[in-house]
Amino acid sequence: MQYEAVIGLEIHAQLLTDTKIFCGCSTEFGSEPNTQTCPVCTGMPGVLPVMNRKAVEYVVRTGIALNCEISSHSRFARKNYFYPDLPKGYQISQFELPLCEGGYVEIPGNGSNRRISLTRIHLEEDAGKNIHVGTTRFREGSASDSFVDLNRAGVPLMEIVSEPEIRTAKQATDFMKKLRTIVRYINVSDGNMEQGSLRCDANVSVRPEGMKELGVKTEIKNMNSFRFIEKALEYEIKRQVKVLQEGGRVVQETRLWNTEKGITESMRSKEEAHDYRYFPDPDLVPIEFDTSWIDEIRTHMTELPDVKKKRFMNEWDISEQDAELLASERSTAEWFEETVKLGADPKAACNWIKGDFMKLLHEDNIQISESRIKPLNLVEMLGLIDKGTISGKIAKTVFEEMYKTGKKAGIIVEEKGLLQMSDESGIESIIDDILADNSDAVEKFKAGENKLMGFFVGQVMKETKGKANPKIVNEILRKKLGR
Ligand code: ADP
Ligand code: MG
Ligand code: ZN
Repeated sequence: MQYEAVIGLEIHAQLLTDTKIFCGCSTEFGSEPNTQTCPVCTGMPGVLPVMNRKAVEYVVRTGIALNCEISSHSRFARKNYFYPDLPKGYQISQFELPLCEGGYVEIPGNGSNRRISLTRIHLEEDAGKNIHVGTTRFREGSASDSFVDLNRAGVPLMEIVSEPEIRTAKQATDFMKKLRTIVRYINVSDGNMEQGSLRCDANVSVRPEGMKELGVKTEIKNMNSFRFIEKALEYEIKRQVKVLQEGGRVVQETRLWNTEKGITESMRSKEEAHDYRYFPDPDLVPIEFDTSWIDEIRTHMTELPDVKKKRFMNEWDISEQDAELLASERSTAEWFEETVKLGADPKAACNWIKGDFMKLLHEDNIQISESRIKPLNLVEMLGLIDKGTISGKIAKTVFEEMYKTGKKAGIIVEEKGLLQMSDESGIESIIDDILADNSDAVEKFKAGENKLMGFFVGQVMKETKGKANPKIVNEILRKKLGR
C-alpha cells in the first residue's frame, strides 16, 4: 500500500521589538542571565502587564503579508501550566480570538506555486530558559544543579499555525524558508534560527493514499534548523509508515529530534498532556483598533519577495532561478536594484552578484550590505569592461581586490597595472614570438586541428598575464594562421 504524509507546522517567531511584550525590559540576546527582568516578567503578584503596541503592529504587518483576515477585536488568554521557567504558572497567549485568521504562504510546486493555507497567527509571550548542569550519582543523565534564566520570559512571539496541507519534508522546509524570507523582508523578526528567534513544531501523520480522514499525528517539538526539520520529518514519516505496515497503530505523542542519533524519540504521550484551562486574561483589556490602522500599516509595507521576483523576471529579463536567488534576501535584492538604478546592465550585475560576490560573502559569512563593495563600485567596474579598459578575466581580480579593500575599480586597475593591452603592434610581436616557438602546433593547426586556436590564445594570455584584449588577439591570430 502507498502512504501519504500529512504535515502541519506551528512556527514561533520572535518579534523585533526593543522591549518585552508587557514590560519595558530589553529583549537583547546574549546578556548575562536575569539582567533583563522586572516584577512583571518574573511573574510577581500584584503587578500589571501593559501591552506593547509595536508587537501588535508587527503581527498585523505579518497578517497583511500572508493574506490573513486581521481581527480588530482580539484578546489575550491565560494558558495554564506549570514549568520552572514560567514563574506566573500561566503563559499569556491568545486562544479563541487571535489577531489573524486564514491566509496562505506560496511555496514552489510542480510548474506553478503551491498554496499552503494558514489557520491563524497569534501573539504570545515567551517563557524563560532552564539550564541544567553537572552530574549526579542518583540517576544517570540527571543534572546536579538547575538554573532559570528569565531574560527571555516575556519576549514577544508570534505563532503561525498552518493547516495540515503540507505533504513532504521538502515542502515543510520550503514553507519555513519562505516564512523566514517574508518576516525578514517586513522587518518583524530577524529569523535567526541559531538563536532560536525562529523555531518550529512539526505535526505529522500518515494515511493510505486516497484516504480522506487524517491519521493519528505526532508532534516533533522545537526544531531550529532547516536541515533538522527535513531530516526529522523524513525519519518520522518512515517510522509511522513502518508501524502501520506492521499492523501497529501510531500513538499520539510529542517527540524530539535527536541530532546525534538521527532519530525522533518519544518525549511525552498526549494522554498525560494538558488541559490548559484557557480563560480570558483579566489583567489585560481586549486589543481593539480602528481598521484604518490596518490600511495605514499596509501603505507602509515594503515590496514582498514574490512581487520583486516577478518584476526582476518581467522588467529585466532575469531567469526565474536567478530572480528567486536575488529576491530571497531583501538586502541582496535592494543592492541589485541599486546597481540597475545606477546604470548597470541587469544581467551582468546579476551574474557578478550570484557568482563571485556570493562566493566571497559566503566565505566570510556576511550580508551583502556589510560588504565593502557598494553598488556604484560594481557599476563602475562593469563600465570598464564595456569600454574594453579591462578584460572579463582581469575583472575577476579587480572584483576580489574591491571586495578586500573597498577601493574603486579604476584605482585598482591603475595601481596594479591591469589595463587591458589593446595596442595591436605590441600584441602582434608577442604573437610572432609564440608562433615561432610553437612551429609544431602551427603545422598541426594548418593541417586542420582547429582546437589548437585555444592553445594559442592561452599562450598569449599567459604571456600578457591576461591583459591582452581577446578580440584583438583572435583577429591577429586568424590573420597570421590564414583563417
Ligand atoms: P493540537 O491541539 O494537538 O495542538 P491542532 O489541531 O491545534 O492540534 O493542530 C496543530 C497543528 O497540527 C496544526 O498545524 C495542524 O495543521 C496540524 N495537524 C492537526 N491534525 C493533524 C494530523 N492528523 N496530521 C498532521 N498534522 C495535523
Ligand atoms: Mg500543538
Ligand atoms: Zn520585565
